[in-house]
Amino acid sequence: EREATNRSRKRSRLIVLAGPTAVGKGTVANYIREHHPEVQLSVSATTRQPRPGEVEGVNYYFVDDTEFDRMIVEGELLEYATVHNAYRYGTPRAPIEAALRRGESVLLEIDLQGARQVRQAMPDATLVFLLPPSWDELVRRLVGRGTEGEEERERRLATAKIELAAQNEFDVKVVNNTVAEAAEEVVDLIKTRGNSGSSR
Ligand code: 5GP
Repeated sequence: EREATNRSRKRSRLIVLAGPTAVGKGTVANYIREHHPEVQLSVSATTRQPRPGEVEGVNYYFVDDTEFDRMIVEGELLEYATVHNAYRYGTPRAPIEAALRRGESVLLEIDLQGARQVRQAMPDATLVFLLPPSWDELVRRLVGRGTEGEEERERRLATAKIELAAQNEFDVKVVNNTVAEAAEEVVDLIKTRGNSGSSR
């Protein structure tokens, strides 16, 4: 009976997708959301405003600072961080614990600070680092996105440089050559990790 419990515990997998700014984590997560509805994606809380097309409860839970503070105080967040010195983001704990209890895998798309906190809280988690094809390509993507001003872009580039250095803390690296390929690689990983007993 003990063995069965262990086996089912090991089947539960928390997969964390992180990586440098503008590497395309969000795009990969959106691809998975659209093409792999069987994959459970954690829905984060954030204090930033919704972008056009984003849906409450699907992309994020959009909350104000008071509500975010309440979630922290009540211990409702598995991890949380201020990203780009601007808004706060956090992972609600309850849905993840419920999924793991059911023996299901969950994917988290969070920043590096958050990934480190998850590693502490849940040592069993598999940390995936999404890599740009090259540094030049990362810069091109950051500039090409064009949603940020000059100052913000410089700040994000500086952050990205530091973040790239963190890749060796991760269990698995996936290169984001195309969104579809990277997404399928992550989905494969979830399915493999989720069904085999082996960890990193
Ligand atoms: P965006 O505002 O572009 O959707 O996301 C900005 C950054 O916040 C991304 O790097 C994303 O990975 C990160 N992020 C999203 N949700 C969470 C979360 O729950 N926790 C942490 N630590 N970072 C998050």
